[in-house]
Amino acid sequence: MERAASIDLKNWIARPQTQTVMDALERGGKSARFVGGCVRDALLGLNVKDVDIATPETPERVIELIEEADLRAIPTGIDHGTVTAICDGIPFEITTLRRDIETYGRRARVSFTEDWAEDAARRDLTLNALYCDRLGKVYDPIGGLEDLKAGRIRFVGDARARIEEDILRLLRFFRFFAFYGSAPADVEALNACRDMAPQLNQLSVERVWKELSRLLLAPDPTQAFSLMSSYGILAHILPEANRSKDLHHLVQIESDLKVQPSYLRRLASIVDLDANGANALASRFKFSNAERDEFSELCNPPDWPDPQADRKRNRLALYRLKPELFIELVLLGATRSPALDWPGLLSFPEDNALPAFSITGQDVIDGGVPTGSDVGNILTQVENWWIESDFTADRDSCLAYLSELITARS
Ligand code: ATP
Ligand code: MG
Repeated sequence: MERAASIDLKNWIARPQTQTVMDALERGGKSARFVGGCVRDALLGLNVKDVDIATPETPERVIELIEEADLRAIPTGIDHGTVTAICDGIPFEITTLRRDIETYGRRARVSFTEDWAEDAARRDLTLNALYCDRLGKVYDPIGGLEDLKAGRIRFVGDARARIEEDILRLLRFFRFFAFYGSAPADVEALNACRDMAPQLNQLSVERVWKELSRLLLAPDPTQAFSLMSSYGILAHILPEANRSKDLHHLVQIESDLKVQPSYLRRLASIVDLDANGANALASRFKFSNAERDEFSELCNPPDWPDPQADRKRNRLALYRLKPELFIELVLLGATRSPALDWPGLLSFPEDNALPAFSITGQDVIDGGVPTGSDVGNILTQVENWWIESDFTADRDSCLAYLSELITARS
């Protein structure tokens, strides 16, 4: 195995917790190496999130070694060789070098090995089969480094066979393409994905949504979505996405206006759903209540900002939408009709702090209307009158109008 590159030691590798876990593991006499996302991202100069470690030690021995160092060991996926070590609250996933003997669905019967090349061969994509030791030396058993530099997202070995073993890899391919790939995408992989797409129904919806939501948060997922659409992948997992081309505009707008990407906004930009449709999608992907509410408001808002309308009209929209949703809709509106001056409305909520409506049901009751009967209706009439005043009528004026209404009833 050639030394192909090296990684700066002043970062996550040098962190005391990383060193403690590596010390513990290597006390068994065998060298461990970092693998996967941490090596890939470090080589690209990106922030490293989770540290995954590969070791020739068996999982049982890994647990012993970790516990002997007074660290906590959790047998996260002990059957396929994964143990999580916790050091100062930071988790490290440690996986024994392995070969997949037999795969069924998403599961595999594995055999442990001490051969790094065998371990590399069972990984999904070449850019994810890079290792480095604690000195920062990079090991590249299958040419992942070249691919990483060139933005080539390629399966390790035969694309079709690798997806057949584990259908999740199909979605991972598009996610990694969105984050690290450059066009053109690997045709062998795309064709294999198209042929295998009907098998995506083997995945749990939670899995699908987890991958999709991560893919949606790529700096620019447009190309990945457009390929997923033309290769018939979206039809199996997100048939509602009938305007994926809009994603491109939204990404551009987010970047121009320096707005953080949001997976729900991006999802809403590529579908066209009424209230039932939005709810059905939220149920299918098991959204949390907060996600469901936000998504359904994005798809079916109670009002819309309007770049062609006057200030008073937009203040009414702001009142109905509240600032956060108002801004979200400005972004979605700009995506759908880019010729209008949507960005001009972006600071509208900040420049138009609206007062709260000061009349309550109790005021109506105090005015002599029996509890329950018309209290709600009357309150709404006063509120509409107050809105019509462009929110300028104060509490006393509202109370005077309320009293007029009550008098007119009797
Ligand atoms: P990130 O954590 O940023 O999503 P990652 O590459 O670290 O990226 P993980 O899901 O943490 O991804 O997996 C760690 C490594 O395990 C991967 O880099 C890859 O080598 C391997 N791996 C993960 N999932 C699969 C899979 N379904 N098939 C084959 N290898 C996989
Ligand atoms: Mg990882």
